[in-house]
Amino acid sequence: MSKILVWFSVALILSLGLWFLDRINASSISFSDVETEFEDGGGVHLTETTFTQDSIDPDMQMMLATTSRGARWAYWWKDFSPQEKLRYENVSRPAGPFRVGIQAGHWKNAEVPDELAGLKRSGGGATGGGKSEVDIVLEIAQKVKKSLESRGVVVDLLPATVPVDYFADAFISIHADGNSSPSVSGFKIAAPQKDFSKKSSLLLELINKSYKKETGLGEDRNITRRMSGYYAFNWRRYEHALHPMTPAVIVETGFITSPVDRRIIVDNQSRVVNGIVNGLLEFLEKA
Ligand SMILES: [Zn+2]
Repeated sequence: MSKILVWFSVALILSLGLWFLDRINASSISFSDVETEFEDGGGVHLTETTFTQDSIDPDMQMMLATTSRGARWAYWWKDFSPQEKLRYENVSRPAGPFRVGIQAGHWKNAEVPDELAGLKRSGGGATGGGKSEVDIVLEIAQKVKKSLESRGVVVDLLPATVPVDYFADAFISIHADGNSSPSVSGFKIAAPQKDFSKKSSLLLELINKSYKKETGLGEDRNITRRMSGYYAFNWRRYEHALHPMTPAVIVETGFITSPVDRRIIVDNQSRVVNGIVNGLLEFLEKA
């Protein structure tokens, strides 16, 4: 009996020791700041025990975390460093008409640079109703471009790969969602987790309002880290990402797997286009 007690005590002391070491390692950053991982553009929530001190790079504000899905890079967002401030903060828009980037999600995924190689696995994105996400969102993006150009806005139609340090008056990434249940429905819009431009929340608010009005779709409240930590927003991790001062949102236009949503995003795209364009034009006037 006493032998068992001794082993039990040893085990207890060992686990307490490990727990304590973890606490020390964990003390260097704030967990509420740690948001996402990138290897495949997905997101995981990190807990205090999922990483170790030696894998943290405080300058890059990233760390290698061990998660249930294996080792992943994660990052947290601090304000600009003095060098970043010099490089990014005092950018001013060139004279001339408004310029915006409209990204068709997953478009040309096969051509992404090495740093975004994980995207290749997602192919054309979600599928449903015999359609592929990339086909639907490319159609929508092309129509958005045409509509904006008729109003004098210069539009860059962008594939999955964003130009290095892409700077514009606004950036909108267009996607469609998928779910195993056909009854899951609705749109959702997210801004970068840390908005250095300080204008993305206005862009989000205005497009959200007009999108709801034009499409009549309900709002899906489940914003994921895959959205707020979208790879194109992550200029600290990737070269092919937005300039931090570009106001940006990612729009999940609806669920391709929902017959209700497909009636809008496949069969009635002019309503989707008006929802995005009207909100964006209002933003360009106000911002
Ligand atoms: Zn997508």
